[in-house]
Amino acid sequence: MRLSKAFVPTLKETPSDAAIPSHQLMLRAGLMRQLTAGVYAYLPLGYKAMLKAMQIIREEMDAIGGQEFHLPALNPEALWMQTGRRNVPNFILSVKERDLVLAPTHEEVIAWIGANHIQSYKDLPQIWYQIQTKFRNEPRPRSGVLRGRQFIMKDSYSLDRTWEELDKSYDAHAEAYRNIFSRCGLKFFVVGASSGAMGGTGSQEFMIESPFGEDTVALCDHCGYAANVEVATSAVPSVGRSAESAMPKEIHTPNVKTIDELASFLKTDHRQLAKSRVYLHDGNPVLVLMMGNDQVNESKLIAAVGGGEVFAAGEEKLVELTGADAGSIGPIGFKGRIIADNRLKDSNNLVSGANKNDFHIINIDLKRDAKVENYFDLRQVEDKEPCASCGKEIRVAHAIELGHIFKLGTKYSEALNMRFLDEQGQSHPVVMGSYGIGVERIVACHIEQSHDENGIAWGKALAPYACHLITVNMNSKEAVLHANQIYQK
Ligand code: ATP
Ligand code: MG
Repeated sequence: MRLSKAFVPTLKETPSDAAIPSHQLMLRAGLMRQLTAGVYAYLPLGYKAMLKAMQIIREEMDAIGGQEFHLPALNPEALWMQTGRRNVPNFILSVKERDLVLAPTHEEVIAWIGANHIQSYKDLPQIWYQIQTKFRNEPRPRSGVLRGRQFIMKDSYSLDRTWEELDKSYDAHAEAYRNIFSRCGLKFFVVGASSGAMGGTGSQEFMIESPFGEDTVALCDHCGYAANVEVATSAVPSVGRSAESAMPKEIHTPNVKTIDELASFLKTDHRQLAKSRVYLHDGNPVLVLMMGNDQVNESKLIAAVGGGEVFAAGEEKLVELTGADAGSIGPIGFKGRIIADNRLKDSNNLVSGANKNDFHIINIDLKRDAKVENYFDLRQVEDKEPCASCGKEIRVAHAIELGHIFKLGTKYSEALNMRFLDEQGQSHPVVMGSYGIGVERIVACHIEQSHDENGIAWGKALAPYACHLITVNMNSKEAVLHANQIYQK
């Protein structure tokens, strides 16, 4: 391509609605244009960079035995009813006139194909992948192509006989992902991530650190510990028990609403103060006890209660359930489930609300006085806490997710009846894994990591063109002829 013929509509000014470098530079360098919120047209230079990323992905997926599909973006709505995902909030865009939806991911279609064609253990394992357009009903598309309503994803699905075999497919993907992101020239790291209500440790995210990231991660620069805050832990000390356990006593605490106010009122430190937060889990009240100002991490809470809908109770609901406002709630006499953070496990001599405005109860022994059903890790880690692995300081930072690998298990195979017969003729659901990479995110993250005041500093792997041939002296016929010969070659 000659530059004189190339369609590269560059912009001199930084567009006012583009807040982050990759968004600004992808517009200014003529890589893409926004058609409408969260929907982008890729222009030739931008698409070339994306094709290079896709080629790297394809090579690494083929190297682990992946077979490429091209599945339809239009799906029957009924298929998504079968797995219960039709109404996941902010997920699916639909085409109402025809009872169709635009697929946000393809577990359903994969399980539908498998249900029709996988019969025996001899048909397994399989790794099926595609690089294809996805649609999501993102409520706030922003940061350019990092969060679109339409985007290109490499999604793959492993189909195995057992969880042990799934481990192998998962590990192969983890290795392929490392190769893909390294070859793309990205400085990335891998974090343990939440697998939500499905439990287990079977989920990892591949991330780059960025102040513009929407994910929050805990990182240890000393030992390499890295986890999404949804699951991250730290080595903060627990409260423990003191030898004497005095009897509970109600005390008047006028105008004391916060933990800090309570600490200064009682001249004690946060360690003896138990904060109560009330949630509604599928409509039922759950009181969550935390030490001092420790924040409840809602992902951990959802996992602890076993999934479902979890909301913090509003002001009116709090009064209805406890008789008190937020600052005076406590476990004693609370009607509903009580769970507590591990940090408070079996501790005594605690102070908490009395479920009566302006009153607290001192000397609470959780073993003796409160019906704590169970203890879980529920707290959100904070910057500079000691690392759970090595004890040195962790950092809490923002990050952008490039890819996610996930041990799904049998949720979709059961819902769509994808089963196989083993050697003994017994029927089992296929064990699935699912693995995604955002193609736009690879290109945008590369730009985030590699730009300066002059613009994008393309790495060789993703550069739209490998070289730029410049005829220094256009007045010399010989030079022009020579340049043309090199160009033709
Ligand atoms: P996020 O938490 O950022 O919304 P997700 O958990 O919804 O991501 P997955 O469903 O795991 O993402 O999708 C796989 C990959 O697709 C992500 O790792 C990301 O790279 C990419 N991706 C997801 N949503 C978008 C989007 N709206 N725009 C661009 N890429 C996306
Ligand atoms: Mg999402």
